Amino acid sequence: MAFALSPVSFAQTAPTEPSPAQHPPEPHITFNYIHTDGPYIAMTFDDGPSDKLTPKLLDLLAKHHIKATFFVLGENVAQYPEIVARAAREGHEIGNHSWSHPNFAKMSDESVRSQLRRTDDAIKNAIGRSPTLCRPPYGSITPRQKRWIHDEFGYEIAMWDVDPFDWKRPGPTVVTNRIVKQTRPGSIVLSHDIHPGTIEAMPATFDDLEAKGLKFVTVSELISMETPEPPKAPKSTTARSTTARSTSSPPAESSN
Ligand SMILES: [Zn+2]
Repeated sequence: MAFALSPVSFAQTAPTEPSPAQHPPEPHITFNYIHTDGPYIAMTFDDGPSDKLTPKLLDLLAKHHIKATFFVLGENVAQYPEIVARAAREGHEIGNHSWSHPNFAKMSDESVRSQLRRTDDAIKNAIGRSPTLCRPPYGSITPRQKRWIHDEFGYEIAMWDVDPFDWKRPGPTVVTNRIVKQTRPGSIVLSHDIHPGTIEAMPATFDDLEAKGLKFVTVSELISMETPEPPKAPKSTTARSTTARSTSSPPAESSN
């Protein structure tokens, strides 16, 4: 998923500056995690709504006073609009996860546009407003797609930095342990509200994350809390950086 660092993307955005070290910052439209000063994190649940499991999860979230973000599939929204309406009414954020979960990076613009448009319409019908976030299925999207989707739909692209691989159904305890171990302030946690074990994992997960002092907000709220990252070690070819520690590329940039 390292599209953002491919030479192609730099060539497209900065044809006169082919060196990665000199490229101008791309517009910040993709988020894996948020650099923030507070203890805030975002729980995200993909691929629903599920008629059986999502209401259970909503009950748990209400009990814990937690706001989460749901990246829904349009075909499920069309089937269960009242569940999406309930989630929005209870303060959760709804994001666009495509109509039927295809791989955007292998599709024509027209097909991607149709997937997003139909889902945007279904969400708008269910909750009365359009989403402002998109998460591509499998996290698969090209830098060029990110830009035109942002331009056309106004979406920010919400990825994640914590992945418990709950879709492999490793059991609730494993899901909890993976999430709790990996989550830090600013994390965006991926999971899926279509697997029973994921829902079973959530009470302990919420308790343990709360015990670590972490507080739950929606992805858009987390993005609004972003603070500037400390300056990175210079990679300049001039002789001025003798005191700078030489470091390899920061890992946070290689994961989308
Ligand atoms: Zn998905």
